[in-house]
Amino acid sequence: MTLFDVQAVRDQFPALNQQVHGRPLVYLDNAATSQKPRAVLDVQEAYYTQDNANVHRGIHELSRRATEAYEDARIKVARWIKAADSAELVWTRGTTEAINLVAMGWGLDNISEGDEIVLTEMEHHSNLVPWHLLSRRTGAVLRYIDLDDQGRLILDNLDELLTERTKLVACGHVSNALGTINPVERIIEAAHAVGALVLIDGAQGIVHLPVDVQALGADFYCFSGHKMCGPTGIGALWARRSILEAMEPWQGGGEMIRFVHKDHSTWAEVPHKFEAGTPNIAGAVAMGAAVDFLSDLGMEAIAAHERAIMEYALARVGEIAGIRVFGPESLDERSAVLSFLLGDAHPHDISTILDSEGIAVRAGHHCAQLVMKRYGVAATARASFYLYNTTEDVDRFVDGLGIVKGIFG
Ligand code: PMP
Repeated sequence: MTLFDVQAVRDQFPALNQQVHGRPLVYLDNAATSQKPRAVLDVQEAYYTQDNANVHRGIHELSRRATEAYEDARIKVARWIKAADSAELVWTRGTTEAINLVAMGWGLDNISEGDEIVLTEMEHHSNLVPWHLLSRRTGAVLRYIDLDDQGRLILDNLDELLTERTKLVACGHVSNALGTINPVERIIEAAHAVGALVLIDGAQGIVHLPVDVQALGADFYCFSGHKMCGPTGIGALWARRSILEAMEPWQGGGEMIRFVHKDHSTWAEVPHKFEAGTPNIAGAVAMGAAVDFLSDLGMEAIAAHERAIMEYALARVGEIAGIRVFGPESLDERSAVLSFLLGDAHPHDISTILDSEGIAVRAGHHCAQLVMKRYGVAATARASFYLYNTTEDVDRFVDGLGIVKGIFG
């Protein structure tokens, strides 16, 4: 059931209104990045054409306006995820930088040799490699929650996996490679019971689910603007204020200091002590506009629309002989990602053939090589849906797969 007029929504996304290889574009690469609505583009342009100045430093009108817009956007995004305080929201380049900030800013001071970090087999490389780096520097041991055949986390042995040695559990909210929605509340509760902190990689979760960081109860929640209608190069780390206050800054420079002496410096208050240098001001302001756009539609309505599209897509691809769909069978456990293989066709060939029909999907390991290894494949093709996709898009996609089958048998 769609609770908004999808055509009217589509009309607000200029990039959707184009021909690719002579066919109207069907954009199904949303898990990689979303298209941007006019409202976001307008706010970004208005910022650069009217208010552009550096933040926090100037005592002139444009700097005052830029600072206000930058800080208002922080308040907007913080309220949207129901943070207790906007000071708990640190602007970053995106999810990757947010996770690295925690690994280096929190991890180096709180993880020692023999301590354990629990990850899952379905993590994006962004939520693996920072922990590899930390483990190399500290001697921390990395342990993993495995996946079942449907791409769900196996949690039966969680009590054995989590011990007093566990210092952190870092887990994705929603998998970009399988679409699985993880039962993060259960993981958070179990981790806290042994005194471990929990980082949630929310890069895909924030896009499809209403997020309430206080209700969720995690300690860190990381996300990117570009997958949720905002620009690239901006995202955020949310963390509880007490944790941020206890953390050392991980980058030094302008903006993040209180006083600088010859041999040491003192830090600004949170969140500023984590925002060294000139930030992505326009990006933050535009991400605030993206939140306005999503709030107007309503995250529940977006989730309901995506669920309907996914239900339709699963039913339609289910008619295709030789298709192998990855991820959970139940719609309650999966988000709008359809990872698949079709007969003997290589995912890159599938993607190339679909592209020639104006249909954008992704092929590869989706920065989740552990997932590929778990299922014994080198790559998958992936169609990922968003709030502006329609059943007509799904029909075009299925027609395209018919062409693939025609070529590869
Ligand atoms: N985690 C997940 C689950 C993702 O899907 C992505 C983006 N593909 C990231 C992390 C990294 O996000 P970014 O590249 O915006 O930092």
